[in-house]
Amino acid sequence: MPELPEVEIVCRNLNKILGRNSRVKSWLFFRQDLRFKIPQKQLLQLRGQKIQSLSRRAKYLIFYFEEMALISHLGMTGEWRTENSGFDRKSANYRKHDHVCLQLEGGVCLVYHDPRRFGFLQIVSKKQLPAYFAEFGVEPLDSGVDFGALTEKFKGLKGPIKSALMNQKLLVGVGNIYASEALYRAGIYPFKSSAQLSRESYGRLWGEVRGLLTEAIKKGGSTIENYRNAFGEAGEFQKGFYVYGRQGEECRKCHTPIKSRVLSGRSTFWCPSCQKK
Ligand SMILES: [Zn+2]
Repeated sequence: MPELPEVEIVCRNLNKILGRNSRVKSWLFFRQDLRFKIPQKQLLQLRGQKIQSLSRRAKYLIFYFEEMALISHLGMTGEWRTENSGFDRKSANYRKHDHVCLQLEGGVCLVYHDPRRFGFLQIVSKKQLPAYFAEFGVEPLDSGVDFGALTEKFKGLKGPIKSALMNQKLLVGVGNIYASEALYRAGIYPFKSSAQLSRESYGRLWGEVRGLLTEAIKKGGSTIENYRNAFGEAGEFQKGFYVYGRQGEECRKCHTPIKSRVLSGRSTFWCPSCQKK
């Protein structure tokens, strides 16, 4: 599932692609049922409008129009890619699991592809955006984050630190992969209680989260199953994972076999020697 780095990369790619040709010519719809029904009527009403800007919040892409905003969530396997004008169901470039095509006036088409269809598109008015994202936590890469306040919130929680790290109401963008990797880098046992973790450990953790996400963006993100950026390129960052997906393999630092256990339905990976209870 794309996490913050992967969505950030797609956002940067799309911003490059949109460049000067960001006026919507039309839309093509190939099927209606993503996680939510595609708002075809509302999307068609955006014809002739310019995409004023595109940004990311948490794992969501937000396309800003005059009064409305299009929110795109990639779910498990969503991808945006470019095709040239002439793209339709009969074109040689059409692929199974292409669901929506945004045709821009300059001739470029942005195609949304999603085999598992957990992603979605939603239209909200720009005024509704603050309410839409009201329950979301802080952006780990923002410059003004009060990590001291965040630590106190985490210390007030019950349950393991890894679950807290993935709680999007406190901190956004960190999912199963980057939570395991960040905890390894900070030398923290994933099942340790959030309340019992020291402030010093939290300080280390926030530094590692920021470093990890920044590094992952530079390396093009992580491709586990099928993540591709908007230019169709896979990420490289998964090649350097310390723990994720490496159960039974040697720790890169101490050669102890990496362990794995399911926590809240998700596999958690750690080194029993570098991340002591
Ligand atoms: Zn180790």
